[in-house]
Amino acid sequence: MLKYMMVVMVGLALISLTKESAMAEETIKIYDVAKQGFIDVPKVNKTEDEWKKILTPEQFQVTRAHGTERAFCGLPTKGHKKGIYKCVGCGTDLFLVDQKFESGTGWPSFWNPVNEANVGYDEDNKFGMKRVEVHCARCQAHLGHVFDDGPPPTGKRYCINSVALQFVETK
Ligand SMILES: [Zn+2]
Repeated sequence: MLKYMMVVMVGLALISLTKESAMAEETIKIYDVAKQGFIDVPKVNKTEDEWKKILTPEQFQVTRAHGTERAFCGLPTKGHKKGIYKCVGCGTDLFLVDQKFESGTGWPSFWNPVNEANVGYDEDNKFGMKRVEVHCARCQAHLGHVFDDGPPPTGKRYCINSVALQFVETK
C-alpha cells in the first residue's frame, strides 16, 4: 500500500513539474522592427504585485486595470520623430511613427499596428458601448481601442493610451 502511494505521489510530482516547465516555456512569435522579421520570445506572465514593482501607478492603472488616461496628457500628437512605440510592460514593438496620424482626439492614434502578430483584440462592452479593446500579444497589457473611422489605407483608428507606450527613436 505504501509503495503504491509512493508511486502515485512521484507520478503526481512529475505531472506538475512538466506542467510548470511547459508554462514557463510558452513562447509567442512577434514581429521585430529592428530585425525586420519574426522572432520567438517567451510570453510574459506576471502577478499584479510583480507588475506594480516595474510600472508606475498610472502605467499599472491603464495597462493592467484597464483604465483610460485623460486626453492631451501624454505623447505629443504633432512633430514626432522617426521611431517605434514599444509596450511599456514587455518592450514589444507595437506602433510606428510612420503610421501615426492626427486624429484630434487627444490620444495618440495609429492606422496600423507594427504587425497583427504583436497585438490581440477583445470585445469590450463596458459603459454601454460596443468597442474593440487592443492589447499587447506578449504580456496582455491593455493599450486602448480600435475603431473603424481611421484614414486610408486601413480605415482603422488605433486610439492608444500614451502611458502604455515607450518611445524609442530610430534613425
Ligand atoms: Zn507587452
